[in-house]
Order: sequence, then C-alpha cells, then structure tokens
Amino acid sequence: MSTIDTDEFRTLLEQERERLTKAVKFLHDENPGSITEELGDIIEAGIDYNHLGDTASATFDRELDEGIGERAQQTIGEIEAALKRIEDGTYGFCEVDREPIPVERLRAIPWARTCIKHS
Ligand SMILES: [Zn+2]
Repeated sequence: MSTIDTDEFRTLLEQERERLTKAVKFLHDENPGSITEELGDIIEAGIDYNHLGDTASATFDRELDEGIGERAQQTIGEIEAALKRIEDGTYGFCEVDREPIPVERLRAIPWARTCIKHS
C-alpha cells in the first residue's frame, strides 16, 4: 500500500494541469510568435528541458513555441494519466519495478511514472 498522501498530489496535478492548459491556450490564441519570460517559467517548471540545454530560457522563435506547446500538451497528458492512477490506487509506484517512488521525486515531478533509477 502507498503511504503517500494522494490528496496532496491530486491538488498539485490539477494546479499544474490548469497552468499548462492556460499556457497552451496562450501560445495558440494570444501570442503565437513569442513567449513571455513569465510564461516560459511556468512551462519550464513542468517540462523536462534537457534537450534544449542553455537555450531554454533564451529567446524563443515561433518554431520553438510550437515545440513548447507540444511538450506542454504531452505533459498535460501525463498529468491526466497520473490523476487516473490516483483514482485506480496505483499512483506513486514505479512502472518498472513497482517500488514506491520517493515522495521528494513526486513533489518535483508529480506525474512521474518511474523511480529515478528507471527514468
Ligand atoms: Zn524503478
């Protein structure tokens, strides 16, 4: 049985989903050619930007905006899946070895499917 407080993570996931949904909407509707620093921070907080390296916080061009929108959309999908795992009672366990995922990792990435070792 999981010892984590799923209510805490349900709240975190729902908040993050709302933020990302707004960000995606902003990219699509309001300002497709550029991204504000504030918005960048919001999206960056939810997305693994390893593939962008040091350019992640620099200037975004339109093509990159679209990439960010896609990544945000993917993360929203991950969040939806995590919320479903909370409903199913399988939330917080590594998909590879079924061991509990450390709570610190879940606080950093609430939609994590695996432990750090298997990520
Ligand atoms: Zn694992």
